[in-house]
Amino acid sequence: MKPSVTIVGFGLAGAFAATELLRRGHRLRIVDDVRPGAASPVGPGQINPLATRRFRVGWKLDEALPAALDTYRAAESACGEPLYHARPILRIVKDQTQAEDLEKRRDEPDAARWIRDPSPAEQQCIANRLRAPFGAFVTYGGGWLDVPGYLEVMRRTLQSDPRVHWNPPETAMLREPFAALPDSGPTVWCEGWRARHNPLWRNIDHNPAKGEWMRVRLGEPLRADVIVNGPCWIQPLPDGTARAGATYTWSSFESGPTADARITLVKNLAATYNGPFEILSQHVGVRPIVRDTRPVAGRHPEQPDHWILNGLGSKGALYGPWAARLLAAAMDEGAPLPREIDVTRYFR
Ligand SMILES: Cc1cc2nc3c(=O)[nH]c(=O)nc-3n(C[C@H](O)[C@H](O)[C@H](O)COP(=O)(O)OP(=O)(O)OC[C@H]3O[C@@H](n4cnc5c(N)ncnc54)[C@H](O)[C@@H]3O)c2cc1C
Repeated sequence: MKPSVTIVGFGLAGAFAATELLRRGHRLRIVDDVRPGAASPVGPGQINPLATRRFRVGWKLDEALPAALDTYRAAESACGEPLYHARPILRIVKDQTQAEDLEKRRDEPDAARWIRDPSPAEQQCIANRLRAPFGAFVTYGGGWLDVPGYLEVMRRTLQSDPRVHWNPPETAMLREPFAALPDSGPTVWCEGWRARHNPLWRNIDHNPAKGEWMRVRLGEPLRADVIVNGPCWIQPLPDGTARAGATYTWSSFESGPTADARITLVKNLAATYNGPFEILSQHVGVRPIVRDTRPVAGRHPEQPDHWILNGLGSKGALYGPWAARLLAAAMDEGAPLPREIDVTRYFR
């Protein structure tokens, strides 16, 4: 029988690790404390194949995107609820430099296959609702994962699975990273930004970034079924409201929403959207970013029972399922992890 694995933390990383390890026949003990600053409860879950400033194709996109879509489709067919919303990304070109970058990408087959011109409805949206003096284009292959919805479905599924023990009492000490660690079976640490306080993982070059976004009601609807990406992104929601964000700051990770962030968000939304809007709420979380901005997966080089899945950064919905698959294959078969995501890069 395969060993029981303990997963510490149940945000996206914990949920992806649980999915892959169960699929491989492991029993699980899952330990989760919802602590201030967790990213997943507020994660907008967007996937954008050309997310960089210069519209370059995302790193390992051809591997990560199919793994992500496969994971979300499997969860949707298990629960019968829509969780991943495929949407074109209406990208606003910021300035002349970006306009030149766009022309270069149009000539590169790898990037060009993700780019198209706006449809008539999207052109109307740009003309009437957006501020886009340098134009806009559409990226295929984007969308957003309903992250809280996905986690809720996964929590329900796992809590009713007899192979899974949820917050079993013997793992309570794991919630305190300085406490003694158990010697039974491997542990996968999925603590998000809080891994920076865990002495096991102090070698990792953690660089967490606090982020805030607002839920808003747009005075005039966009009238195009898109995610807008400009000085601010605008993510329309099924209930007719929209998310607008997000900020990046590198301090005060445990504090709640701030007035400074609100000012920035209002300014950026006004620079993107040409109309009135009402602010309904403000949300905050901490992205688990590491210095080289790649996921962090693998085995602790000195503590062989300890594994990690972290560093999902600003792109957990895209890279998490792929990194979790590689982690599970490494745990089960000893399959080597790609050098760029292997945690051992921080222990050399
Ligand atoms: C404002 C904002 C915007 C974002 N936008 C996007 C986006 O558009 N697209 C995208 O893909 N990603 C986005 N992200 C990033 C994405 O949400 C994260 O990459 C992802 O949610 C990280 O998941 P995680 O499980 O690693 O960490 P978390 O979600 O933080 O989960 C960690 C969990 O572990 C628990 N925990 C920690 N330590 C312990 C312990 N010792 N014992 C027990 N439990 C513990 C925490 O309480 C928490 O529940 C955004 C994030 C933020 C904050």
